[in-house]
Amino acid sequence: MSEKVILVWFRNDLRIHDNEILSEAVRRADKVLPVYIFDPFYFKTNINGSQKTGSFRARFLLESVAGLRQNLQGFGAELIIRTGDPAEVLTQLADEYKVSEVYHHREVAPDETAVSERVEAALWKMKLNLKHFIGHTMYHKEDLPFPIKDIPDSFVTFKKKVERDSTVRPSVISPDHISVPEIIDAGELPTLADLGVPEPLDDTRATEKFVGGETTALKQLHSYLNGLPNNQVKQVRGAQCNSSGLSPWLAVGCISPRQVYWEVVNYLKDHHLSNTDPIMLELLWRDYFRFMFKKHGQKYFRSEGFGDAPDTADNQDELFEQWKNGQTGAPYIDAAMHQLNATGYITNYSRQAVATYLTKDLQVDWTRGALYFEEKLIDYSPASNWGNWAFVAGVGNDTKSNRFFNAAKPTDQLDTNSDFINIWLPASKHIGEQPVISQ
Ligand SMILES: Cc1cc2nc3c(=O)[nH]c(=O)nc-3n(C[C@H](O)[C@H](O)[C@H](O)COP(=O)(O)OP(=O)(O)OC[C@H]3O[C@@H](n4cnc5c(N)ncnc54)[C@H](O)[C@@H]3O)c2cc1C
Repeated sequence: MSEKVILVWFRNDLRIHDNEILSEAVRRADKVLPVYIFDPFYFKTNINGSQKTGSFRARFLLESVAGLRQNLQGFGAELIIRTGDPAEVLTQLADEYKVSEVYHHREVAPDETAVSERVEAALWKMKLNLKHFIGHTMYHKEDLPFPIKDIPDSFVTFKKKVERDSTVRPSVISPDHISVPEIIDAGELPTLADLGVPEPLDDTRATEKFVGGETTALKQLHSYLNGLPNNQVKQVRGAQCNSSGLSPWLAVGCISPRQVYWEVVNYLKDHHLSNTDPIMLELLWRDYFRFMFKKHGQKYFRSEGFGDAPDTADNQDELFEQWKNGQTGAPYIDAAMHQLNATGYITNYSRQAVATYLTKDLQVDWTRGALYFEEKLIDYSPASNWGNWAFVAGVGNDTKSNRFFNAAKPTDQLDTNSDFINIWLPASKHIGEQPVISQ
């Protein structure tokens, strides 16, 4: 009898731990074929001239795929790497390796689900099944106390019901060994140049450099855990706030939110600390936006969102250029934009501040800001980005649970941390007052 080969199509799940598609494939198949595909769609230039994936995120992704290959080799396996259209690559590999089934994790954003549908249709023509798994959230979709269509739009209600009626599943057990078929051509990792992405310039002012991969994700988690007693005194001001810094790894799935949850729970228990930590609330926000994307899809990409498109300034082209180049004259906003451009990362506080400033003060269409973040952020994730932007712009599906940046806050309470401004804003640009944040 011929061997059963299952192809595991890695996308935003670049890890071995708590990876159901991998563990299930190992359990059910004689041989597993791990594959990662660089899809040119994600490296194209948008019509406005921006790149779909900026330099910092593209490098992080390459490091993460390289890390996955290395870790799989430690399990006796090999990662096949290709560049091309997933529908073509997967059908060709399925034919070459006599694959009987393909496993992947289901995504929620329209671009990603469209790729899955094309792959599914192409495989179907070969009488092959694309099996969908759910694995990107802390709470499993099937364990929610409501079907997706009935998920409360209000975050507060969502949180209350989920915390009362659901539990987080245990992480799946990682395989001990992975058997792969004889691989003829595993393929080279492309370079940034191959993908058409410029090399990022590492700015000496950046205190933290994010390096992709599951191994570095676990290190980052452990350094967060080691600082936990202090992290629990979470400060209000984002610039000083003790956050985990895990978002780039969570975005490409080098670590799962469920693993983060359980490691935090166990650490708290072992160290007799309070049984809850701010990270659990943040991960719930992440889940919420993903479930909302599943429920509402395309609505998150429209200027009007769930209401009416906000008024925009007549000169929004000019204002948008000033904002993205950190030339608005508002020191905190400009410093944050310089930091974003130089590193691909800014804190949640800074994201809220610059998004509020763009949409409320400058009255620029929020979708321009969201598209700019899509290019620049090292941790870009469609649901988290577009969901948060719609929220800040006031066109999200929940206008009540706004725990966000207080747009009406007096300007002298806006973070005036001069160290931050001195670091990120060239001295000649220290002009003007703090931004006047208005409703
Ligand atoms: C306008 C705007 C755009 C954003 N775009 C993104 C994005 O593209 N990708 C992204 O991961 N986060 C996004 N966020 C959310 C948040 O700013 C980042 O997740 C956070 O700054 C990451 O830092 P951390 O890992 O230290 O977070 P922590 O505070 O340690 O939180 C742990 C994890 O929870 C998740 N999380 C935290 N806050 C949020 C939130 N508000 N919404 C959704 N998930 C959250 C992240 O995965 C994060 O790593 C955005 C926020 C705003 C206001």
